Amino acid sequence: EKVLVTGCNGFIALHVLSVLLSEGFHVIGTVRSQSKGNKVKESFAELYPYAKLDIEIVSDITQEGAFDAVLKKYPDLQHVLHMAANFSFGSDQGTNEETYLIPSTAGTKSILNSVLKLGSNVKTVVQTSSFASIMNVENPGLLHTEETWNPITWDKAKDNAASAYVASKKLAEKVSWEFLEEHASEVKFRYTAVCPPYVLGPQMFEWGLASDTLNTSAELVNSALKSTPKSEINTEEPNGLVCDVRDVALLHMLPLRNEKLGGQRLFPVSGANLKDHQYEDAKFNVQRILDVLNAKFPELNGKISKGTTKDNKGALAKIFNYNTDLTCELTGLDFKPFEVTVFDSAKQILDYQAAH
Ligand code: NDP
Repeated sequence: EKVLVTGCNGFIALHVLSVLLSEGFHVIGTVRSQSKGNKVKESFAELYPYAKLDIEIVSDITQEGAFDAVLKKYPDLQHVLHMAANFSFGSDQGTNEETYLIPSTAGTKSILNSVLKLGSNVKTVVQTSSFASIMNVENPGLLHTEETWNPITWDKAKDNAASAYVASKKLAEKVSWEFLEEHASEVKFRYTAVCPPYVLGPQMFEWGLASDTLNTSAELVNSALKSTPKSEINTEEPNGLVCDVRDVALLHMLPLRNEKLGGQRLFPVSGANLKDHQYEDAKFNVQRILDVLNAKFPELNGKISKGTTKDNKGALAKIFNYNTDLTCELTGLDFKPFEVTVFDSAKQILDYQAAH
């Protein structure tokens, strides 16, 4: 079965590719440049010599018809995973509209239109949305579930890069649900939105660690490792919910195998099935990362910060309440606990540093 993955060189997408290729799917991955594509192709050829992976260049996903050529080239495509989007909190050139809103919303419209027009065999579309489209910053005490929608508007968000990112993710998911309604009589595919909060975990390939700064979310563990006992860090920021990249990757594959996941929003969080945790394990801040690092890597004691937050329970209690029973029930996944995710991320970085 052929599956198209947009933005296939991203942190999360590389894990998705790994799951798909090891499950025997024939993956067609899109990237923005040849050199990025070559790296992905070579890395998987080494890891899974039997894997069927083709790379296609789509240099600007916001153009109408940007994906038409790919859809025409693979008329028997059965699944589409739309993952490409800019995830950062403002380190980019250009206005917030150019950086976040347009790629997210126009990119989504573009792929959906191509699928509708040319993807007559497409059965499944999965979009990497975000907890950004669920969360209500004005009311973190609200019980956030698969049904919750962020009330944010573009007008309110547009002047701040982080809010602009958040709003762009919500609006991109809205584009899809509205598209499904508008084209209800023509659409033949099932649509699933995956709405992860902060995604942490190891990089799929070592080269993901080669630069000093990692992708936006993984950099949280990396920067905690770069801290010193004297570092002045606000250990309560950033804060939010978290989940493991390997679980997020599985959630992108499951709708391809399970029709019941069509029409759903999936909301993965760390430790969702932990006994008695009552939905607390996914609430995190930098202090909590430092606590795991100091407890699990004794060799880091005296080298990295211990953090300054005295009562982290109080700080964590202010973070979004949530309940993801529906996602647990629908997917049957065992969501990795926060500690495992931080441990695995840090171990990979430390091993890499020791070897280079
Ligand atoms: P990465 O930055 O590692 O990957 C982003 C991918 O999207 C890359 O392939 C990148 O291509 C591509 N991309 C970025 N901007 C554009 C653009 N303007 N046009 C076309 N392609 C673009 O991020 P992640 O793997 O973390 O994120 C992947 C998806 O997951 C995104 O949709 C993000 O919003 C979502 N997400 C991420 C979370 C996280 O904590 N990491 C949490 C929730 C959702 P290139 O390399 O060429 O820039």
